[in-house]
Amino acid sequence: MLLENLAFPEVEAYLKEKNVILIPVGSVEQHSPYGLIGTDFIAAECIARETGKRMGIMVAPTLAYGISPHHMAFSGSATLMPETLILVVGDIVKSFLSHGFRRIFFINGHGGNVNSIETGLQRLKADNYPGIFGMISWYDYPEMVDIGRELFDGKEGSHATPSEVAVTRCLRPKEFGTKATIELEIEKPEHHWPLSAEEMRQFFPDGRMGSAPWLATESKGKMVIERSVDALEKKLRKIIAMPLADSSKVQK
Ligand SMILES: [Zn+2]
Repeated sequence: MLLENLAFPEVEAYLKEKNVILIPVGSVEQHSPYGLIGTDFIAAECIARETGKRMGIMVAPTLAYGISPHHMAFSGSATLMPETLILVVGDIVKSFLSHGFRRIFFINGHGGNVNSIETGLQRLKADNYPGIFGMISWYDYPEMVDIGRELFDGKEGSHATPSEVAVTRCLRPKEFGTKATIELEIEKPEHHWPLSAEEMRQFFPDGRMGSAPWLATESKGKMVIERSVDALEKKLRKIIAMPLADSSKVQK
């Protein structure tokens, strides 16, 4: 059930039954010569929408942009500043709360977003906004570590990973005719963190970080999606079953 395709009476009808909404969030950043600049939001959107379809819960429009300052020495990347995302997270959650949503989850596709999303949610809780909020990264369950080992020989690395590239190959196969496919060395240089844009390009000149994206295939992408949707569904069912605090006792 996609919010963007509904009219307001349909949202009101949904809110009589349920109060859950998923918000996919990604990044607009280089994913090496092997992957799409939209990788993170394309993957997060697909996994959120598949899970929403399976569970009969609403999915909000995707927040495509994220925190990517360290990718800015690679053409095409665009970044929010951490403060911006903190505010955007707060504004989106407050908007949905005002209509009666009470279980609001960001389905994240980009590691760089984690701190800002969590900070945004913590600020809402510090101000006593009612509800259960959360951020779940689709690639970050024990099940996904297993799949990295099974399908990609443990060569996931941490950026332009074969899992995420496989997901996008499965979803947008026509876009890969012009992308790199050759096998290279996997280098894992010692580096500090965080990195500036120039440092990132010096340490990781082709934009990969210890990954083997040439191992990505459409069929493996399908398996990654299925496994991640299974894991996300399991996790969400647990959180959604938690009781809400009595909102009459808190402000707002
Ligand atoms: Zn990514």
